[in-house]
Amino acid sequence: MNDMTPAARDEIAATFGRQRDAWNRAGIPDRQARLASLARVERILTEHRAAMAAAISADFGNRAIPETMLLEVLPSLNAIRHARRHLRSWMRPERRHVALTFQPASAWVQYQPLGVIGIVVPWNYPVMLAFSPLVDALAAGNRAMIKPSELTPRFSALLQTLIGEAFPPDEVAVVTGGPDVAEAFCRLPFDHLLFTGSTNVGRKVMLAAAENLTPVTLELGGKSPVVVGADYPVARAARDIAFGKFINAGQTCIAPDYVLAPRAQVDALAEAIITEARRMFPTAGSNVDYTAMVTERHRRRLADAIAAAQAAGARVLSHDAEAATAAGKIGPTVVIDAPRDNLLMREEIFGPVLPIIPYDTLDQAIAEINGRDRPLALYCLSRDDATTETVMSRTISGGVTLNGTLLHVAQDDLPFGGVGASGIGSYHGRDGFRRLSHARAVHKVGFINPLDLLAPPYGKLYQLATKFLIARR
Ligand code: NAD
Repeated sequence: MNDMTPAARDEIAATFGRQRDAWNRAGIPDRQARLASLARVERILTEHRAAMAAAISADFGNRAIPETMLLEVLPSLNAIRHARRHLRSWMRPERRHVALTFQPASAWVQYQPLGVIGIVVPWNYPVMLAFSPLVDALAAGNRAMIKPSELTPRFSALLQTLIGEAFPPDEVAVVTGGPDVAEAFCRLPFDHLLFTGSTNVGRKVMLAAAENLTPVTLELGGKSPVVVGADYPVARAARDIAFGKFINAGQTCIAPDYVLAPRAQVDALAEAIITEARRMFPTAGSNVDYTAMVTERHRRRLADAIAAAQAAGARVLSHDAEAATAAGKIGPTVVIDAPRDNLLMREEIFGPVLPIIPYDTLDQAIAEINGRDRPLALYCLSRDDATTETVMSRTISGGVTLNGTLLHVAQDDLPFGGVGASGIGSYHGRDGFRRLSHARAVHKVGFINPLDLLAPPYGKLYQLATKFLIARR
């Protein structure tokens, strides 16, 4: 898509210029001003949540309304309440230690806003992934420009209207459009760019940001594994996995991508996951609580991958497959023995299709994880401390939920982000406040400046002082 006119480009640049100018004029907002901005965001969410959920459902061709409420609106409101409760302590200067050499003096870190933050949003959680970074940006005293996804056009237009009603454009603004707009957006000299999306586009974003030395937070994707311990009850594992995998029809950045299970348990686990899917969603096709694939292209990609795996001899268990297809959905599906060259084993799946890979030893499971890019999330289901410790100490991932799935992302007091190919930097709560602040170092000299002893001309005082300072332990 390349529909961007020079006038549209100028308009985005002008909005950025207005935010910068307003920032220079108004300076650092105090706590009251930040709380007032957060209250306006809260009002948008509470007053317009139904309209937002309806818009997203229309964009997806059916997005379960409770999923928008539980997984998007509620966490965004929680983020605001958490920030409100802790803002005073986050903003407080942080006293630091001053070495004897430099006494008498004091030192502290002052967290300053960076200025204007760019926020790029994907389609899969369009509320949460716009509002959560916005909350962190405003709590830290910044202004922000948001670019939502072109794949959620109704929601994006609504967001633009709602933000436009609640904020002057020199404080928060929404820019809509496709990849060409996104590209121009990422070339603006933001003070920080927080991008959520795919690893491939993340690379382009970092390149564009490098031109301006704009620091980036990249919230990317990848293949997040679940390791099922031999000790863990199969029915419990199925419930944990089905929840994480089938809500939002698997279109969740931290959804379990594949499962590593003890060989003897693979069949029972596959059956149990499908049984659990049937319990959660008695039907998939006609069920408004079961979300559709965002576009036909996304649906076809996975339908083709399932067919290819089956043709190559994989075993496929699925629930309500035909009715789901007719409704633009993919029914919950488990695949055993998918070939290595199949898309399901190579790419982030991003849908309700779950390969199970058998392992004979925990070492094999760990080797499978470490043979791939570092994942955004990792799940270990085991009540055996030795198993958990082995998995935790020999793998690296952005975050972890033990004995469950997804829940680490909902913790306001934990940093959320990836590592390696799954992302750079993290946000949420205090970590988001700090990510979008500048930690300014301040050193205040006391009533004597110790440099007076050490500065030229180098005489007796210098000799005594350096002798003492070098000899001391
Ligand atoms: P995407 O990378 O295709 O698009 C994301 C955003 O980038 C959109 O707003 C798009 O307009 C914009 N964009 C497109 N081309 C661009 C360019 N050249 N320069 C700058 N921006 C550009 O991702 P998507 O398909 O919308 O989302 C799915 C991906 O996002 C998955 O990989 C998923 O794992 C990841 N994701 C990560 C998180 C997280 O928090 N880590 C959360 C949700 C989704």
